[in-house]
Amino acid sequence: MCIFCKIVNNEIPSNKVLENDDFIAFHDLHPKAPIHVLVIPKKHVDCFQDAGAEMMAGITTFIQEVTTLLGIDKTGYRVITNNGEDGGQEVYHLHFHIMGGAKLPFGHMIDEPHKNM
Ligand code: AMP
Repeated sequence: MCIFCKIVNNEIPSNKVLENDDFIAFHDLHPKAPIHVLVIPKKHVDCFQDAGAEMMAGITTFIQEVTTLLGIDKTGYRVITNNGEDGGQEVYHLHFHIMGGAKLPFGHMIDEPHKNM
């Protein structure tokens, strides 16, 4: 069983922000922004590439509820999902990173972004 399924089953603890029948939001263990929360579906899906439209519709509404609860719905935030190896995915249970609480930097991820394109 994957680590996020263990969080769903309460087999390992998490610092929960919000939960409903289908999704859970909890604080990232290693925050990379003043606010860094993960949103996961309770049903195991490996990654974004495998997510269905119905799940995505539900998770969109849930993320909007979470950002309102966190008080960043007006100030702004970033939503990221890392998909697969090149995307830098470490945990293979679909999750969305919600980051906010500061003006977040954004730039090239590699030194010569177009070199291999
Ligand atoms: P990703 O690279 O998109 O797969 O990111 C996985 C994220 O999960 C990382 O930001 C980790 O810090 C976070 N993480 C891993 N284990 C836990 C955990 N038990 N509780 C909260 N966050 C976790």
